[in-house]
Amino acid sequence: MLDYHLHLWPHGQRDKTPTLDQLHEYCELAQENGVDEIAITEHLFRFVQVDRFLGGFFKQYPDTPVRAIMEEYWAEHAQADLDTYVEVALEAKAAGFPVIIGMEVDYYPGRMHEVSEFLAGYPFDVLLGSVHWLGAWPFDHVSDPVIMAEWDEFGIENAWKSYTEALEELADSGTVDVLAHPDLIKVAGHFPATPAEFYDRMAEGARDSGIAAEVSSAGWRKPVGEAYPAPYLLRKFFEYGVPITTASDAHGLADVAFKADEVKSYVVSAGYHSLRGFRDRKAYDVAI
Ligand SMILES: [Zn+2]
Ligand SMILES: [Zn+2]
Repeated sequence: MLDYHLHLWPHGQRDKTPTLDQLHEYCELAQENGVDEIAITEHLFRFVQVDRFLGGFFKQYPDTPVRAIMEEYWAEHAQADLDTYVEVALEAKAAGFPVIIGMEVDYYPGRMHEVSEFLAGYPFDVLLGSVHWLGAWPFDHVSDPVIMAEWDEFGIENAWKSYTEALEELADSGTVDVLAHPDLIKVAGHFPATPAEFYDRMAEGARDSGIAAEVSSAGWRKPVGEAYPAPYLLRKFFEYGVPITTASDAHGLADVAFKADEVKSYVVSAGYHSLRGFRDRKAYDVAI
């Protein structure tokens, strides 16, 4: 098994300099839980190098309380040094740890070319792509009442539609290798009248762009209480030949390889016999 989605720092907490010890602990816990290889995939927006060219991104949207929260959130998070992150990960690889270097990249409409060029300057093994916000609305901040109130303003159908479009564009951009938590839009437990309509488009988007999709246990820790992707969407991915990775999306040691056994049964029951591994952004298959 793989755990290809791991953060070093919890949200709302300042980054600390990553260390070999921390990565060693991650690898050990993963292996105890039947995971053979991990990818560290910190958020791109946590790094000062990115703040320099994407820092003002949300200024293009109307100045609302939601945008103010997003800007504050960004400023609070964009503090880490990307060179140190990459160096420690390279050291861990050189020391023989079963770890690869990744990044979780958000979708920045109209800016993905710039993002791709920036990322090409680093030795990443795998890049995850995520849609965490629609315009300036970070719809997955489930513990913030102002952000959650925005669900009424935005509307559930409209949110699913905008999310699906963003995911299609992200897949199509060619910037990333894997769609992280592909149906994250369900995080707060709000579903449209016909989710299958949107799931079909998500699966087609992945198929047409040749991208992999992530199967993540993180949804089991969220209000929705369901893995990403939903069973219907996972079956569609399988039907369309979309390769998958598996992941916990841990934001600290405690959740590394979270429910790895359940994820394994889930993907096997959908028909999968192999997972997609990555090295230097080149894909290969790993038997489950
Ligand atoms: Zn994410
Ligand atoms: Zn994540």
